[in-house]
Amino acid sequence: MAKPVIITVDDDAEVLHAVERDLRSRYGERYRVLRADSGAAALEALKALKRRNDSVGLLLADQRMPQMTGVEFLGQAMEFFPNAKRVLLTAYADTDAAIRAINDARIHHYLLKPWDPPEENLYPVLDDLLEDWMASFRPPFEGVRVLGTRWSPHSYAIRDFLTRNQSPYQWIDVEMAEQNAEARRLVKAVGAEASSLPKVLFPDGSSLADPSTAQLAEKLGLRVRPEMAFYDLVIVGGGPAGLAAAVYGASEGLRTVLIEMEAPGGQAGMSSRIENYLGFPSGLSGGDLARRAVAQARRFGVEILAPQQVAAVRVEDHSRIVKLAEGTEVGCKVLLIATGVSYRKLDVPGAERLQGSGVYYGSAMTEAMACKDEDVYIIGGANSAGQAAMYFSRYARRVVMLVRGGSLSASMSQYLIDQIKNTPNIQVETYARVEEVFGDQHLEALSIHCGDSGETERVPANSLFVFIGAEPNTDWLAGVVARDERGFILTGTDLLRDGKRPQGWPLARDPYWTETSVPGIFAAGDVRHGSVKRVASGVGEGSIAVQFIHQYLSAV
Ligand SMILES: Cc1cc2nc3c(=O)[nH]c(=O)nc-3n(C[C@H](O)[C@H](O)[C@H](O)COP(=O)(O)OP(=O)(O)OC[C@H]3O[C@@H](n4cnc5c(N)ncnc54)[C@H](O)[C@@H]3O)c2cc1C
Repeated sequence: MAKPVIITVDDDAEVLHAVERDLRSRYGERYRVLRADSGAAALEALKALKRRNDSVGLLLADQRMPQMTGVEFLGQAMEFFPNAKRVLLTAYADTDAAIRAINDARIHHYLLKPWDPPEENLYPVLDDLLEDWMASFRPPFEGVRVLGTRWSPHSYAIRDFLTRNQSPYQWIDVEMAEQNAEARRLVKAVGAEASSLPKVLFPDGSSLADPSTAQLAEKLGLRVRPEMAFYDLVIVGGGPAGLAAAVYGASEGLRTVLIEMEAPGGQAGMSSRIENYLGFPSGLSGGDLARRAVAQARRFGVEILAPQQVAAVRVEDHSRIVKLAEGTEVGCKVLLIATGVSYRKLDVPGAERLQGSGVYYGSAMTEAMACKDEDVYIIGGANSAGQAAMYFSRYARRVVMLVRGGSLSASMSQYLIDQIKNTPNIQVETYARVEEVFGDQHLEALSIHCGDSGETERVPANSLFVFIGAEPNTDWLAGVVARDERGFILTGTDLLRDGKRPQGWPLARDPYWTETSVPGIFAAGDVRHGSVKRVASGVGEGSIAVQFIHQYLSAV
């Protein structure tokens, strides 16, 4: 934890130096002692400390300074650090003014110059004040802070990125600043005008206004550039399948790099509670699973590049070369594609415009606290929608699940159906379809068509979470590997037509189970045609793929 600060202010350099020396010798071990030669400079220093979320325990200011008196400075300093103890240093002649300041300007104490010996005239008073301050001191949050507004898609994207990259942060909604004095002080210190929002503040005192995820990644020290030009194994996609393959590949001696365009964890990382993954009887969150898997992969020496998107792939003899969206190329002996699926978008009027401003895909966890005591709408009837409903039911006043079919049983695991039934604030509406979403700056209402009554109703709503199935994003592989009509990658026997190997297949053996129509390019997890869309099966496929990768490598 950073040490709390003591600031001393005086325009007389000699006096300033002497006070600083005495403060340091007594408090230097527990406090950072700073000095300023004017009230204005001290106020600037206080603003910078506020931006870094530092704490200030004591302000000691000389009364007679040109431009700004000590009393004036101490009064203004309260706008940033109202709990800091305020002490005025005065000459004997100013005693009356100092006493008045105690009454009028809420100054805690005044000290007379000279204060020698400090053991008698300075420390007893300051000890007492600092002890008092320490008794109610709460260490401040020391990580990244995000200032923005709830309905801004950019603020949402930044929070989502930080959450999914396991980077703790504090969220400060500037629209709530009127009700939160500490937030108001910070907004004032930062000068957070609307045009600079969202703003991300870092513990080193620096900040980024409306940063891209690439800028954030760089600032947070996430690795986005490959260390080498050529690897044994390149894995595209950091979901359960890619992470499992990375762990098995690297632990079995393959120089492995995993490239992930958002955050390691994949879809599973968005899950609020995975309850059916072997070995975790009380379930675990997707974020937790991702964190453990990333640690395990790193322990075996896997290089993880994120966020970094792979945009193209080509084959050159025995090398497979992927091209990153920013242009860099990375070569490898074997490529594993584990890019999963992404959410299908809600295709109704208003949905695209309000994405991130009330209409969300998947990411339940970032928004949950903001939905406290509100009504939340969820579209979808599969496990992912069920998990989200359970998660939101802990915060929201009411969760309404809008399900296209007649019941949940066709698409949801029984354990979740039972949990939902036993949760009084979840309401399941069957044969229900959202027809349009409304709102100016953010979502304000939905129109819902009820198949039973044939009627369409408009309801007020601030949050709509959409879980309506998913599709693979494999267009970047077009013309390279064979895919089915929906874009899923064909592997193994699915590539054989009437027992014949795929066109252009050069080897005297059939493709392995997880091998694509190009030898040395493999696919695992949800992106693979015919896969079971589950965390455990993704993990299984990723690890099995590595066995076939070894067999492939032993023959080239
Ligand atoms: C909310 C939710 C809850 C779920 N709950 C459960 C559950 O309880 N139990 C269960 O068994 N299953 C659950 N699932 C399903 C499970 O999460 C998936 O089956 C599993 O994550 C699939 O793993 P994967 O590695 O194949 O793909 P994904 O998890 O989809 O990961 C693919 C990764 O590839 C990345 N990527 C895509 N394209 C590129 C590119 N071009 N360049 C770089 N990276 C790229 C993506 O960003 C993504 O991170 C849930 C899914 C969701 C969405």
